[in-house]
Amino acid sequence: MNGLVLVSRAADFAAQRHAGIRRKGRAKEPYINHLAEVAALLADATEGADAPLIAAGWLHDTVEDTPTSREELEREFNADVATLVAECTDDKSLAKDERKRLQIVQAPKKSARARMLKIADKTSNVRSLLTSPPDEWERERLIDYLDWAEKVVAGCRGLNAKLEKAFDEAVAAGRRSL
Ligand code: ZN
Repeated sequence: MNGLVLVSRAADFAAQRHAGIRRKGRAKEPYINHLAEVAALLADATEGADAPLIAAGWLHDTVEDTPTSREELEREFNADVATLVAECTDDKSLAKDERKRLQIVQAPKKSARARMLKIADKTSNVRSLLTSPPDEWERERLIDYLDWAEKVVAGCRGLNAKLEKAFDEAVAAGRRSL
């Protein structure tokens, strides 16, 4: 499949699967904004050279958060895209604390492109917590989130300076706001 077709189809598929879902923050942004941001960060960082990675950016939360299977992604797109998404999908049968611990432990073992996707995901999450924190979030939880995101990203570094810079700037802005 041609790269532009792949990315456009991925955006369309993600928009349909996450239709009507909003982020937890006060601004209640449509969830698709998060996916568009992650895909754009990856497109920018790779100068558009890796269409399957950008497609996976659009699709990275479909298996975790919507009724979508890895097999379906493989059928609709290809094995490369499906594997990238699977690498960035938490096991939801585990408790939240355990999932968060595993993200730190497993990040360095992921493929290079999955690690780039994880940095882009965390960058978008940190940015949205700053512009639109969930109502019940207090300072402590923001500090905890920034500390945790930095630990996950520590295991993803050394691949793409542009992505790392975007993440570091988001975290620095977060710490300044505390
Ligand atoms: Zn995400």
